[in-house]
Amino acid sequence: MTRVGIVGGGLSGFTAYLTLKRLGVEDVTVFSLDGDPAAAFRARARAIRQTHMRSESDGHCLPSSFPGLAVREARTTRSLRPLVASACDRYRPTVESFLGHVDELRRASGWAPVPRRVERVRAVDGGFELDGQGVFRHVLVATGHPGLEVPEELRGDPRVVHAYEPHDYAESVCVVGAGLAAATEWRNALAAGARVVSVRRREPTHRPLNVPRPYLSKRGLARYQALGAEARAALLEELLAPSYPREAHVDVPVERRVNGADQVVCATGFRRGWRHDPLLARLVEEHEPATVNGWVEVAADATVPSLTDRERTLALGGVAAQWAYPAADTLMGARYVAHAFARRCRTR
Ligand SMILES: Cc1cc2nc3c(=O)[nH]c(=O)nc-3n(C[C@H](O)[C@H](O)[C@H](O)COP(=O)(O)OP(=O)(O)OC[C@H]3O[C@@H](n4cnc5c(N)ncnc54)[C@H](O)[C@@H]3O)c2cc1C
Repeated sequence: MTRVGIVGGGLSGFTAYLTLKRLGVEDVTVFSLDGDPAAAFRARARAIRQTHMRSESDGHCLPSSFPGLAVREARTTRSLRPLVASACDRYRPTVESFLGHVDELRRASGWAPVPRRVERVRAVDGGFELDGQGVFRHVLVATGHPGLEVPEELRGDPRVVHAYEPHDYAESVCVVGAGLAAATEWRNALAAGARVVSVRRREPTHRPLNVPRPYLSKRGLARYQALGAEARAALLEELLAPSYPREAHVDVPVERRVNGADQVVCATGFRRGWRHDPLLARLVEEHEPATVNGWVEVAADATVPSLTDRERTLALGGVAAQWAYPAADTLMGARYVAHAFARRCRTR
């Protein structure tokens, strides 16, 4: 029996693969339509013309936080500046250097996913069957965000483009949303000479990272994981509200409604919840794991309790693991899930 299967070869699946290899787990099969683990990230970052990562030195795919991207840059530039900036939490690697790092790791790692979209994860004795591809004892489902979100009232409006799809700017642009993509799009459209207004439901929160730092510490995380289902769902809703770092801010007039702009850029992120991911939707329908508010209730190690025992593991990675770790949709979160998953695979 093949031991480990990873469904989804994006940055979360790739980080898990590298971590498994580092811990000596060799028998790993990855299923992904794309051979480039950064493909989805690359396309979206390019669409919003993102130049710098929001994450800091530890926003990378290596199994351990240190040495991170600041050390890599210090080595290549022979300068201490990245290290000093990192010590002050002010280091932001460029997207280009991050992608260079992913390419280096991919080439050196023997990464060769099976080019296949997995339609079904079916629990069987001692493991999980993946689409007739065999039975895997330990499976990580890391299928990323289930599609782009466009507010209902704007669907079908010919002026609409989503921020994460390739686009240029018209003469007048209305940016809908209040997160980092929206802030980036205000800048981009202004730089392109457009008149720009912002439509947003709430005042944006200014914060350097996606999630407040306390929730990245052991103690903060333990408090989060100790919350009951409803309290946790409510807190998660609050933590995932749009935010961006103060330095990304530019002043643009705020409107209540989409006005007569030539173009409407929806910087409204992704759809949320297992129902929008066909693989998770089928899994929930067939195996009925506990769910709340669109989340599959995973344990602190991102495993699905009703489908995980001494013999087998079903874990969720990326955005679907935010129930366990609010920043699971970041590179730090990919590492958190990767370690928990790899520990189980190594010891069982
Ligand atoms: C614009 C942008 C900027 C970001 N910047 C940062 C940052 O600075 N720092 C940071 O830490 N994080 C950042 N993130 C968040 C995060 O790092 C990325 O979203 C990252 O791509 C998430 O990786 P993932 O593997 O979970 O999902 P994805 O990269 O989306 O990969 C999912 C993969 O699974 C595949 N898949 C889906 N369904 C199936 C199936 N049924 N069978 C097989 N394969 C399947 C998809 O084709 C895809 O290849 C950013 C995100 C965006 C959108």
